[in-house]
Amino acid sequence: MGPVEVLASRAMNVEQIRQRLRALGARPSHEGRLLRAWLQGRALDGGPHTESNRLPKALQMALPELEAGLLALARVRSEHPGEEGTRLLVELADGQTVESVLLPREGLCVSTQLGCAVGCVFCMTGKDGLLRQLGSAEIVAQVALARRRRRVHKVVFMGMGEPAHNLDAVVEAIELLGTEGAVPHKNLVLSTVGDLRVFERLPQMAVKPALALSLHTTKADLRAELLPRAPRIDPATLVECGEAWARASGYPIQYQWTLIEGVNDGADEIEGIVRLLAGKYAVMNMIPFNAVDGLAYRRPSADRAAEIARTLHRRGILTKLRQSAGQDVDAGCGQLRAREIKLGFVQREARRAPTVRPSGAAS
Ligand code: SF4
Repeated sequence: MGPVEVLASRAMNVEQIRQRLRALGARPSHEGRLLRAWLQGRALDGGPHTESNRLPKALQMALPELEAGLLALARVRSEHPGEEGTRLLVELADGQTVESVLLPREGLCVSTQLGCAVGCVFCMTGKDGLLRQLGSAEIVAQVALARRRRRVHKVVFMGMGEPAHNLDAVVEAIELLGTEGAVPHKNLVLSTVGDLRVFERLPQMAVKPALALSLHTTKADLRAELLPRAPRIDPATLVECGEAWARASGYPIQYQWTLIEGVNDGADEIEGIVRLLAGKYAVMNMIPFNAVDGLAYRRPSADRAAEIARTLHRRGILTKLRQSAGQDVDAGCGQLRAREIKLGFVQREARRAPTVRPSGAAS
């Protein structure tokens, strides 16, 4: 297998790329230089060449193929600008697609899985379950792709998928981005619905990321309904685990709350949030639900959402009211992919359908 086939195979991870480089004679300094060039969105053979960092001949000869293989890991299939960011439908080497979002202030949201097993009732990604894991190289390739378009200084692992369900790949991606990728550790944000494996793993990591926890409600039974296949961790326990990491890492926990009218926007939830988060090293991110075809939930009014955020603020909870990046282009998490699959299905069906000819037409 040549470098292109090796790098374009499914669920490619970073270690496989390193092994390929070493097999071509790369020393650690060469490996670091090539990985840095890739992660910065630069050509592999760019940068100053001195006698001491000259690449071995076999590696130099293989660069075009290596570069083609790395580019094939993630390509832009389509681009959807909006006021709160630009969504990219990203094509992987096997033709599958995931979503990345170019966020304001040099942020990027990346996907970690194709589909998702958690099945949150308000999310399109979770509708079809998990289709496949992304390799760590496919995760960082989304950063390299974005950096070919503009600067990226912050990476949030909040796109399609539950990072805790692909933890080895996500950890490998974070450790590469926090070293050769030059992303400050506090700007790497690992997001999870809450999984004890994450809390066990975080202290062992060389690169310490910030943490976002998807809370969505303070009631354990409602949480089991909204996030049907998330681990059954009581919200109070989840907050305690989060607080321990906030104190250990020095970064506040970002609690995520998809605000749904009549479901989790009541006075009882406000009391629950104050009870759980008062005095904690935390930020509450309230994100009004995105209207999605086929889902029966509604977005609360802008006034109601602002009132909740103001009330929490008044009661001592640092709260940010965010607009999710896709709302203004009608494309919340997973919708671009779902829409494209639907379109592909319609086109395939149209091709398959017998052609109706006007009577009397020649065959
Ligand atoms: S919201 Fe996140 S965890 Fe829930 S189904 Fe969607 S991708 Fe998975």
